[in-house]
Amino acid sequence: MEKLLIIGGGPAACTAALYSARADLSPLCFEGEFTSEVLPGGQLMTTTEIENFPGYPEGISGPELMADLKKQAERFGARFTYKTVTQVDFSGVPLKVMTHDESFEVSAVIIATGATARYLGLESEKRFLNKGVSACATCDGALPRFRGQTVVVVGGGDTAMEEALFLANFAGQVHVIHRRDKFRASKVMGERVVDHPKIKVEWNSVVDEVLGDDSDGVTGVRLRDTVSDAVREVACVGYFAAIGHKPNTDLFDGVLDKEPSGYLVTKSDSTYTNVAGVFACGDVQDKTYRQAITAAGSGCMAAIDVTRWLEGQE
Ligand code: FAD
Ligand code: NDP
Repeated sequence: MEKLLIIGGGPAACTAALYSARADLSPLCFEGEFTSEVLPGGQLMTTTEIENFPGYPEGISGPELMADLKKQAERFGARFTYKTVTQVDFSGVPLKVMTHDESFEVSAVIIATGATARYLGLESEKRFLNKGVSACATCDGALPRFRGQTVVVVGGGDTAMEEALFLANFAGQVHVIHRRDKFRASKVMGERVVDHPKIKVEWNSVVDEVLGDDSDGVTGVRLRDTVSDAVREVACVGYFAAIGHKPNTDLFDGVLDKEPSGYLVTKSDSTYTNVAGVFACGDVQDKTYRQAITAAGSGCMAAIDVTRWLEGQE
């Protein structure tokens, strides 16, 4: 039987692995196979430059950072494997975790399965990903590409408002593209956006196409008016999707407490879930911050929580 199994391979899982390995728990980490749903190494594998992870004054690429985090955990005995967890049974002790071809019995589980940013699903979004298309203004907004230039943000919720306000610090002009004539966002956030001199709201508008070419990346968007059906183009170098995130929690339907938005519920100021011995950290339980460093921080918390919980069981 394993002492600790960690589901995930992103910053949260790797940090939980590092701390729990140093506590002699010899964690086994399932970081998923390479499929469209899961990505070993996590979300940072899809990005080029990370400028806001402390310790890298010149910045670092996502894949390099993830390789370093994993190597550091392995140095202390963490074991990583490219397996996708397909089912869990947390109804009794020991806890059970299943993959396509194996079943594991474990004393404790840390869930760090992350979340996936939603995109509209356009082919052109995929084509220009990291060439002007992003789903994280906090991550990418300050890059030289966007400074002083025109960018668009798609969405009408609080995330879109935050992204637009953040981008307005760097960009020359920000267009918020919203499919209705009223924001879903809180009143105060919506008003800040509407009143901002650098932000223009494109009401009743949807993106039909992200425009661009292979050398320059994004050069504009084609919008359609949802009332008149009229089509127009807005020139821009950046396209930020802000239409929500989907936490990777389908696996835990009916097993763990979730918020209506699908995020796992953890007890306040801790990583405990509603099932004894099961802990959650990173983006899978964080709808607010969603940063590599906050995911890593909560991975550390989960490892400390699990270590103390296992000590209490002995
Ligand atoms: P994730 O990184 O999402 O990792 C989840 C892991 O769980 C993956 O390894 C996946 O394979 C695994 N998994 C999921 N389901 C299963 C399963 N059933 N079985 C086994 N494994 C499974 N943040 C920053 O701080 N700075 C940035 O510059 C930055 N840039 C970003 C750029 C992009 C394009 C994106 C999408 C995000 C960016 N972020 C950035 C946000 C950051 O990537 C996330 O906050 C962080 O990766 C969350 O870490 P996590 O470990 O919680 O989850
Ligand atoms: P929301 O679900 O609140 O908003 C998503 C937005 O994207 C909506 O305006 C929606 O339009 C739009 N949208 C969704 N799908 C499409 C589509 N296919 N095409 C065009 N537009 C689309 O998600 P958020 O990420 O904004 O917020 C999630 C939660 O986090 C909320 O509870 C929010 O309040 C909270 N949050 C709070 C913050 C804060 O307090 N500072 C900051 C960020 C988030 P429509 O309105 O028409 O449905």
